[in-house]
Amino acid sequence: MPSVIRDEHTVLRDYSDFHQSAEVFRSTTPASDAELAEVLRFAADHELDVRVQGRHHSMNGSSLPRSGELLIYTSGLNHYRCERVDTITVGAGAVVFDVDQMLRSWGFALRLVNDGGRPTATAAGFVSAGGIGNETWIYGGFWETVKQVKVYTVAGELLTLAPGDPLFRWLFGSMGQLGVIAEVTLRVEPLEEGDKPEYPLGPEYPLGPKYPLGPEYPLGRAGVVAHEPHEWEKNFWLTLFVPDDDAPEARALLDGLAAAYPTAWKRRNNYLYPIQFHTFNPPLIYPKDESFSAVGVWGQSPDGKTFDFAKLAEMERRFDMVVRKKPDWRRYIQSEMTFGERDWPSTFGDQVYADFAARKHELDPQHRLNPGVVFPRR
Ligand SMILES: Cc1cc2nc3c(=O)[nH]c(=O)nc-3n(C[C@H](O)[C@H](O)[C@H](O)COP(=O)(O)OP(=O)(O)OC[C@H]3O[C@@H](n4cnc5c(N)ncnc54)[C@H](O)[C@@H]3O)c2cc1C
Repeated sequence: MPSVIRDEHTVLRDYSDFHQSAEVFRSTTPASDAELAEVLRFAADHELDVRVQGRHHSMNGSSLPRSGELLIYTSGLNHYRCERVDTITVGAGAVVFDVDQMLRSWGFALRLVNDGGRPTATAAGFVSAGGIGNETWIYGGFWETVKQVKVYTVAGELLTLAPGDPLFRWLFGSMGQLGVIAEVTLRVEPLEEGDKPEYPLGPEYPLGPKYPLGPEYPLGRAGVVAHEPHEWEKNFWLTLFVPDDDAPEARALLDGLAAAYPTAWKRRNNYLYPIQFHTFNPPLIYPKDESFSAVGVWGQSPDGKTFDFAKLAEMERRFDMVVRKKPDWRRYIQSEMTFGERDWPSTFGDQVYADFAARKHELDPQHRLNPGVVFPRR
């Protein structure tokens, strides 16, 4: 058994505070690709189910270990390398916001980070969710800013995937079902505050850097991405990915829902992210090749500490009933609080779910990776 595997007697929660882990499980914090591969091979040899956790900022319980599982924390995979003038390669556990802050201190930036101005998802967690933010109206989703992903199958085989690879698009929004991400290579831009193009943009808006990054990019630099822990207040979100023309209708639905549960939360403003289409959309996020809109409503817990989960669950049931009647609408299920058993084929759409299941079967036929979330446990 790799020496880095330990027994944990503790209960973990994700950002929802609703979902919780088993009380006893095994865990490990690999500090390199080699350690990660060794752990995965050990788990394969012993037929252990594997759970992966970044910053546990998803709110659906998908990052929390069940009884008997081996939990892989990715916090030790927090390295970076500046290998090319227009990219940075970071470990799965590097926090996207922190990577951006580091680049900004050098005069560069990522194309897309989470909204809210504070650290949240890791690089692999953002891939596993999909990833949207303030700049999606220019660059599209996070998927358009990723140049390469190194991912281990649950059996420990390394795959290096780039945008042309048929599997690449399935990683985004996959909730860790297809493999364990070890590294992500991201596009880098020079900092050009105040020089953003006017909205709306056509798909012809160039994706390449606007000018060569120049010699000051610290080519060859490598190290660890520093992380300052930050507190976030407790929020509840409901986000819909819809065709642009449906955005007003989606907004009206969310407004109606929010108004029907005035005491469930301290409501905050609605939000709308136009998501520009460039080269592809991940089928698990939005299955058509076109620009679309993320429309959402959110609120804080009424007492600043916790939510009345029964009320939120009732709200979600009503929400799901309406969304189910809209074949072109999708929820941002990968990141948001969910309750009870979920009908996954209808969540992703029957065809997308069947295609996803085929890829899952190919890569993880025994359903050992993050089991019981999207696909049934063995
Ligand atoms: C305060 C807050 C603000 C947010 N803001 C935004 C935002 O602006 N835009 C946006 O798009 N989302 C946002 N989110 C959602 C967030 O991006 C997602 O929930 C994301 O998945 C969290 O990343 P994480 O590193 O915490 O992953 P976790 O929650 O730990 O894991 C999420 C899923 O990914 C899997 N996973 C994690 N690491 C790996 C890996 N290395 N390999 C394979 N699978 C893995 C886990 O098993 C799990 O299924 C926000 C969430 C919070 C709490």
